[in-house]
Amino acid sequence: MGIELSLLPAPEIWLAREQPDDPVFFFCPVRLAEVAGRFLRGFPGLVSYAVKANPAPEVVDGLVAAGIRAFDVASPEEMRLVRAHCPEAVLHYHNPVRSVAEIAEGMRQGCVSWSVDRMSELEKLSVLPRGTEIAVRLKLPVAGAAYDFGAKFGAVPEVAAHLLRRVVALDFTPSLTFHPGTQCTAPEPWARYIAVAAEVAGAAGVRLHRLNVGGGFPSHRGADAPDPGAIFAVIARAVRDAFGTAAPALVCEPGRGLCAEAMILALRVKAVGPEAVFLNDGIYGGMAEWRDIAPMDRVRVIAADGMARPGPLRARVVFGPTCDSLDRLPDPVPLPETIAEGDYVIFEGMGAYSRSLVTAFNGYGVRQVVRMSATG
Ligand SMILES: *Cc1c(COP(=O)(O)O)cnc(C)c1O
Repeated sequence: MGIELSLLPAPEIWLAREQPDDPVFFFCPVRLAEVAGRFLRGFPGLVSYAVKANPAPEVVDGLVAAGIRAFDVASPEEMRLVRAHCPEAVLHYHNPVRSVAEIAEGMRQGCVSWSVDRMSELEKLSVLPRGTEIAVRLKLPVAGAAYDFGAKFGAVPEVAAHLLRRVVALDFTPSLTFHPGTQCTAPEPWARYIAVAAEVAGAAGVRLHRLNVGGGFPSHRGADAPDPGAIFAVIARAVRDAFGTAAPALVCEPGRGLCAEAMILALRVKAVGPEAVFLNDGIYGGMAEWRDIAPMDRVRVIAADGMARPGPLRARVVFGPTCDSLDRLPDPVPLPETIAEGDYVIFEGMGAYSRSLVTAFNGYGVRQVVRMSATG
């Protein structure tokens, strides 16, 4: 093709050479290790990976290689997955509603921490060995997240205090946990939750073993890359201010914040109209989350030969490949005027809530994962 392919970024080289007609994820182990290192070095406590954000075997392996040993699992299947890749993993079973059979499986798999947000579920856990850590899940009115995790799970402060007292009465080890909501771009929700967590523990008269500050760490979706270090600093200060010398040990359980940067999604343009572009994947595939979260602008378009399509940009409606008229991204996406059939659209930072949500609706859905080399 007469182009110096070696000067292009890795996905461009691969796409120009292979000309895939189907959508492709590129997995970047170096980026995954880099982000994991930032959490492991910077967070003042235990870092536990929320598996649901991306349970791909290469992601779990990459995190284990980087030094992550604790995992937030929500189902027996996630427990088995983690155990298969890391037999010595520390499992936190933080889905607060479980069937009796799931509780039995969690015990067989050796889960060491269990969250609850209502009395009926706490009573179900009375089969656990005395001394097991039970983390009461606190919720507050949402602020600052891309969507509200408190809408389903969590106990308001008065109920949380009541649950904590019952945890102690049952001879379990009392902790508190919360999830500030996914993609929190500012640290205030953590500070607020931590302050209320201290009040709840005080009201219950319980000294917390641990405080789990949840996930919610943002990924890079727009102009500026987020700085998890700034959030860690706010968390550390808020814990000092709220708990003083009685500070509990800290745990965080990021999903998105750990895995988003590890995958790039490359889609092919199937057709171009004056107002719309048709891609080979959409909301039933790797773009599932785009229905519920603000769009991101780390998007670039290349021609089939790997070279960048120049601007100017124009916002176009983006349709996916299925025959369902819902299969479109909620907001128009700014794309180069020169975009053409056969081009590739490359989305950075697509490792979270993407691969795990792919369906096979209408026979579509991204399946191929290409591992990028160490230079990626
Ligand atoms: C989903 C989830 C997480 C991870 O959330 P992110 O926003 O992806 O960091 C952490 N903890 C619990 C309990 C969750 O349900």
